[in-house]
Amino acid sequence: MTSEEIHLQFHGLTDVGKLRDHNEDTFVVKPEAGLVVVCDGMGGHAGGEVASGIAVDTITEFICNQKEGDWPFGRDDGHSEAGDRLRNAALLANQRISERIEKEPALARMGTTMVSALVVPDGTSWVANVGDSRAYLWHDGILRQVTSDHSWVNEQVQRGVLSNSEAASHPLKNVITRALGARDVPPVDLVKERLRPGDCLLLCSDGLTGMVSDADIGAILGDYGLTVEEICKRLVAAANQAGGEDNITVVVLRARAA
Ligand code: CA
Repeated sequence: MTSEEIHLQFHGLTDVGKLRDHNEDTFVVKPEAGLVVVCDGMGGHAGGEVASGIAVDTITEFICNQKEGDWPFGRDDGHSEAGDRLRNAALLANQRISERIEKEPALARMGTTMVSALVVPDGTSWVANVGDSRAYLWHDGILRQVTSDHSWVNEQVQRGVLSNSEAASHPLKNVITRALGARDVPPVDLVKERLRPGDCLLLCSDGLTGMVSDADIGAILGDYGLTVEEICKRLVAAANQAGGEDNITVVVLRARAA
């Protein structure tokens, strides 16, 4: 199996963008745990950054310090253990945000999206998401979105009511149908992927994908002359050059041959 051994490079970057006066996105990169998370918060009275911060802190704490047999939301036999760790972490984040809202009713409207990945050393990766923050995989010259947006416009695309380009410019494109902190416990989507040498996994908030086309994102991820730090800077710069209408967060995880 030595041919499959990979070395993983991690980097993340967030930027307020050109129009907003504060940043409600939060991310974490924990190479030692193989964990990356991006959360895009929403809600008045500074609630957005409170919600995204609680989510990132809760998920990081759970993944890095989980005790054996500690499954606050039980084991789902349909998932591998690593995937179920991400699902439990996300549901715990949802619970913590709800508890904070109960204590502080001024934050009642807060919530957050969440996209996270847990990668083991052979490149096997689990990706979890709630809301419209995305994960993409760059493999063999092709960029593929591995998450499905939990948004009103994406539901219309799935039903054949809207085209992808109509969805991208639709006035309701920011309406999400699942969030952490919502009154109902949100289902957490889980996808398993395998990272091979040369692959890039990108996690991002909609401040990137709302401003930069998949083709332009792919061109940056596919530039093997760039370091992961440079890739993150180029992605953020591209979103700002296109108008920077929202907070922009990108996390890049690149697999190299060991
Ligand atoms: Ca956003």
